[in-house]
Amino acid sequence: MKPILSISDLAVSYGHIDAVKGIDLTLNEGEITALVGANGAGKSTSLLAISGLLKPKRGSVVFDGEDLTRLSPHRIVERGVVQVAEGRAILTTLTIAENLELGSYARRDKSGVARDLEWVYSLFPVLKSRANGLAGNLSGGEQQMLAIGRALMAKPRVLLLDEPSMGLAPIIVQGIFRTLQEINRTGLTILLVEQNVRQALRIAQRGYVLETGKIVLADSGQALLDDPKVVEAYLGG
Ligand code: ATP
Repeated sequence: MKPILSISDLAVSYGHIDAVKGIDLTLNEGEITALVGANGAGKSTSLLAISGLLKPKRGSVVFDGEDLTRLSPHRIVERGVVQVAEGRAILTTLTIAENLELGSYARRDKSGVARDLEWVYSLFPVLKSRANGLAGNLSGGEQQMLAIGRALMAKPRVLLLDEPSMGLAPIIVQGIFRTLQEINRTGLTILLVEQNVRQALRIAQRGYVLETGKIVLADSGQALLDDPKVVEAYLGG
């Protein structure tokens, strides 16, 4: 297992509120890693620090030998660390195709962009059939698909997702998680932040449990699913 991104002693505060209190986390190349925990545990804050949208108080996020905490958010995207927009912040007055095109704005490899567009359309056929329709007319699940598709158009080497299951019906969530596995099978490394602990750990090779800003458990996804502490606290056991 080769680490592709390593977080060491990462701490993030909002004023005097310490939201993330020195966490260590490693993403292995080609794996799905789940970061799970309750509301307010600090999951979103951790992701925002990786993406460069929040400056950490201390600690490092090393990707490919480079500390990302020194870089601006757009440089981090250029390096290949791409977060799926939270709340599916898609542009509702643009078409689906235009939203996808925005994802690839920084790329110069035109033929690669065309190939990736076909790939995204094959992962999410509904986006292809409605390519020229307004993104605002998509359902919640379809908007989440578009947000994932747009991130893939940036040619990520690491894909970060913040609660892709939020607000979606279980059957839609299942479909989206299946597609994440399919995306992962192409070799793409994924960090999946979820409150939906069971489903996230099912598809993750490795998982971390975050409680009030600290990692309290780290193990394989399966071992965490079987861990009595996880069962009791998160799986309604
Ligand atoms: P959720 O699933 O609700 O997003 P989370 O695990 O992602 O939960 P965070 O959103 O990272 O948790 O929040 C961690 C802590 O930081 C919480 O105590 C939260 O109240 C606090 N917090 C988050 N955003 C801010 C902010 N902008 N200003 C002040 N405190 C914040």
